[in-house]
Amino acid sequence: RFITLEGGEGVGKSTNLARVVGWLEARGLEVVKTREPGGTPRAEAIRRLLLDPEEPEPLDDDAELLLVFAARAQHLAQVIRPALARGAWVVCDRFTDATFAYQGGGRGIDSARIAALETFVQRGLSPDLTLLLDMPMTAAQRRLDQRGERRDRFEQERAEFFESVRQAYLARAASEPQRFAVIDASGSREVVGEQIESVLEARVAT
Ligand code: C5P
Repeated sequence: RFITLEGGEGVGKSTNLARVVGWLEARGLEVVKTREPGGTPRAEAIRRLLLDPEEPEPLDDDAELLLVFAARAQHLAQVIRPALARGAWVVCDRFTDATFAYQGGGRGIDSARIAALETFVQRGLSPDLTLLLDMPMTAAQRRLDQRGERRDRFEQERAEFFESVRQAYLARAASEPQRFAVIDASGSREVVGEQIESVLEARVAT
């Protein structure tokens, strides 16, 4: 079985990923914990290429999209498919929903083009369960955004980018409610953790 964790920046993905892994391991299951972009040496090299802050050359949106899927093809071949084939559980920090959210919602690439690559690379494989950690922008932040001029343009654009990412995630969750569980990540660590555990109890037959 294949579980993915999704969400924007700062929603507590790492903490909750560890919680999901711990929950499965406590039930004696073999768990492979991994992440995207990355998860294998070559895919991690692609990740460094994607996220290199030193590189002055702008990364073309389509090149970014193709690199994300190239890393995914490698990750699927080397890690995910072999693990699932031997009956292990795969818990992955981000997967294709992140591509629809960041390259689609964030960068504005048409989702039909992303879906074409999804079909090409995944050949029918998709997660069984996706936990989306969702956190609303704070009221204060929203108020600042509405005032616009009180915030510098870079900050404003960053806020807009992350709001588009969030909305794209929520739209995907709404279109596939049987696969997604949307978790309100704005509560305390304990409250969010309890929500995750109750989703696992309800949706994961062990
Ligand atoms: O999940 P993590 O925080 O490690 O992701 C690192 C960065 O990669 C994120 O900040 C996100 O902006 C970027 N990313 C992306 N497109 C993806 C996945 C991740 O731009 N498909």
